[in-house]
Amino acid sequence: MISLEDTIAAIATPIQPSGIGVIRVSGIDAISILEPIFKGSEKAFKKSESHKLQYGWIHDSGELVDQVLMAVMHAPNSYTAENVVEVQCHGSPIVLKKILNLIMKNGARIAEAGEFTQRAFLNNRIDLTQAEAVSDLIHSNSEIGAKLAVHQLQGKLFNYIEAVKKKVVSIASQIEASIEFPEEVLELNTREGYMHRIDNVCSDLRKMLSVADQGRRIKMGFLVAIIGRPNVGKSSLFNTLLQEQRVIVTSIPGTTRDSVEESIQIQGLSFRLTDTAGIRHTGELIEKEGITRTQLIRSKADIVLVILDASEKLTEGDQTLIGNLDKGKTILVINKKDLLTHEFPDWYESVSSMKSVLISAKNGDGCKELESYLFEIATQGIGLPTYEDFYITNLRQQDAAEKALSALEKAKKILLYPNGEEFLAVDLRSCINALGEIVGETSSDDLLGQIFSEFCIGK
Ligand code: GDP
Repeated sequence: MISLEDTIAAIATPIQPSGIGVIRVSGIDAISILEPIFKGSEKAFKKSESHKLQYGWIHDSGELVDQVLMAVMHAPNSYTAENVVEVQCHGSPIVLKKILNLIMKNGARIAEAGEFTQRAFLNNRIDLTQAEAVSDLIHSNSEIGAKLAVHQLQGKLFNYIEAVKKKVVSIASQIEASIEFPEEVLELNTREGYMHRIDNVCSDLRKMLSVADQGRRIKMGFLVAIIGRPNVGKSSLFNTLLQEQRVIVTSIPGTTRDSVEESIQIQGLSFRLTDTAGIRHTGELIEKEGITRTQLIRSKADIVLVILDASEKLTEGDQTLIGNLDKGKTILVINKKDLLTHEFPDWYESVSSMKSVLISAKNGDGCKELESYLFEIATQGIGLPTYEDFYITNLRQQDAAEKALSALEKAKKILLYPNGEEFLAVDLRSCINALGEIVGETSSDDLLGQIFSEFCIGK
């Protein structure tokens, strides 16, 4: 179990020359550690001054280190629910480290990754989904991803889980009472009533699970595999979409032997483009490895762009590739439009049943249309999260919600037959535990340690 006795400190901003830098201190001694090294208003550390910026200097035995603004936040009204002091100094790595050292000399220890947020969680200021939202927000790579993280930080997922849990607790306590007082056996009509109530909770959970994959994709970025035989223009398209020269483009087939990944933003969503090695038969060892990876990426991809060369005939390889694809997540990108003498290549009819777009990676013609298609596939059937929406955004939450649902499914089966109240109670308890895992009520120390270790230092 992590100790809450120590006072912890860390530099919370990147350690590089910048306008300002922030050092954060949290714990029982935060105030007494700062008092001897801060020179400013005498009232600065008084409770009445909580959450107000104080102007002054940090000094080392009288020698001035930097001019600062300092905020003292008295417990429990702070990020960690402990006494917190934040010092805003000039963003010089030397000054930041000097101030941190003074703070440590006075009794603080360096905070572990995520330890401030972990304290906020352990002190019950936030639940585990809100703690995870802090990390998601810091690492968010798209506007909509950030929006989902903010919704989770507001406690929307937590409130939903708590409401669902309350329903199950109410059913479980009535069932448990009927075990204690056997004269109140479950009559057929009560059984139907329970069935109805459990069904209702199941649909709450299913609703939440139905958007879990989408939540994860929004958070991580939609994986877009760019595939096709060598020389059709995969790397050129990759560069055009990225608007920079990231990949070497040559006219010798097989230049991209590995996969390269970069993100682009389309209407607030993040798409992770992977330029893959050309799919073709080859005897060369490195390229074979590249091709194996291509096939792997294709199967993992959320969206597949199959690139075809408009200036050439469709090869047998192209046709096999098209034939083996999932139409719902594939866009045929017919490249090198600029080389066409007619509006379409003469084989166009044979692929016209698929979603396709004619482009020139060389001059960017058609790329906007391609981007609209990418956005359309990413949001098809689900749309975009609105203000009220919250999505499950990680596997941990998803696994626990699935566990909760399957416990309820088991409970429903038991309800179909007379007796078995004890088993019913056990399943309802495991559902409650699984829901508790999502918000961190029933999570093990190891799991919590693992979650917070992925945070940044100073958060
Ligand atoms: P990859 O092997 O599929 O990655 O293909 P590359 O992007 O390396 O391109 C192969 C060749 O096709 C290069 O000489 C490119 O300049 C050329 N190329 C790519 N896209 C276009 C295009 O839209 N129009 C024309 N005319 N040439 C292109």
